[in-house]
Amino acid sequence: MTLTDLRNPVRGLGTPQMVRHYLRYMWRFVVLGRSEPLIYGIAVTDRCNFACRGCTVANTGRPQMTWVELMKAMSAAYERGFRELYFSGGEPMLWHDGEHRLVDAIDEARRMGFFHVHVYTNGTRGIPLQADTVWVSMDGLPETFRLRRGEHFEEVEHAVRSSGHPSVAIIYVIDRTTASGIRPFLEWVRDTRFPVMGVMFYFHTPYFGFDDLYLDADERSELIDQILECIADGLPVINSKAGLRALQTGRWRRRMPICSVLDIDGESVCCRASDATCEHCGYAACTELTELQKLRPSAVAGMLRYW
Ligand code: SF4
Ligand code: SF4
Repeated sequence: MTLTDLRNPVRGLGTPQMVRHYLRYMWRFVVLGRSEPLIYGIAVTDRCNFACRGCTVANTGRPQMTWVELMKAMSAAYERGFRELYFSGGEPMLWHDGEHRLVDAIDEARRMGFFHVHVYTNGTRGIPLQADTVWVSMDGLPETFRLRRGEHFEEVEHAVRSSGHPSVAIIYVIDRTTASGIRPFLEWVRDTRFPVMGVMFYFHTPYFGFDDLYLDADERSELIDQILECIADGLPVINSKAGLRALQTGRWRRRMPICSVLDIDGESVCCRASDATCEHCGYAACTELTELQKLRPSAVAGMLRYW
């Protein structure tokens, strides 16, 4: 079986059905300002082989989803209108139920009709070729990476370089320990021809309370200026200028109603954080969507590139 066989045939410009769906969706989203289902996330397990600093969702002892629960959840999401699906965890590549593994769930999602399936992973349990886009967490070069994620940099690097997947993107979480590594990491990605679409920067979000990793609005603002300079210098940043500026000013709509996420305890709108956390949200993917709704050119261009 070739990579082309494995991956989604509607990738790229998409089938006529997908184009029709999104033209109509964008009309209602942008012009009429409606918030209809778009992106559905499923945290299939909280098991993880890492113990990252600042992470409180991994290895809590909660049960993982069964295959039947997972299929029901995917089918219900599809019926409600969601067409973009992502799997997260814990480490989603650790999930299995009997013979069923995550790649089987990706295949089922495609069979149900989801347009794209994304996977968020630490990269050390395989890069699933079946997914449309694989988002791998790497917070800088080894000296900064290890401060948040441990001694796994080379393992992750090797997994990405050897995967052959053409649509891998990096998520870099900026916190007090990783903030100094932004430009060196981007230069390394460029200079070593690391085979990724680019790097999406998030800020550490005080999901379960403030800690010493948290950067306040002024500190974030300076770092966003740095990232904007990196974009101007042609470094491989995925965030759009519009999305970054929205994150910088704080003027964006919190808790995006077009996204939902499910874990073993139930469903949440946007993410699993409390309303009090939203004010300090660092999930840059949200501002990409708010700025897409405003048709900011850089946000639209970005979406077309990695969607
Ligand atoms: S890899 Fe992800 S889920 Fe696992 S410990 Fe790190 S942040 Fe948490
Ligand atoms: S805005 Fe959304 S992603 Fe950000 S903290 Fe609130 S619910 Fe979570």
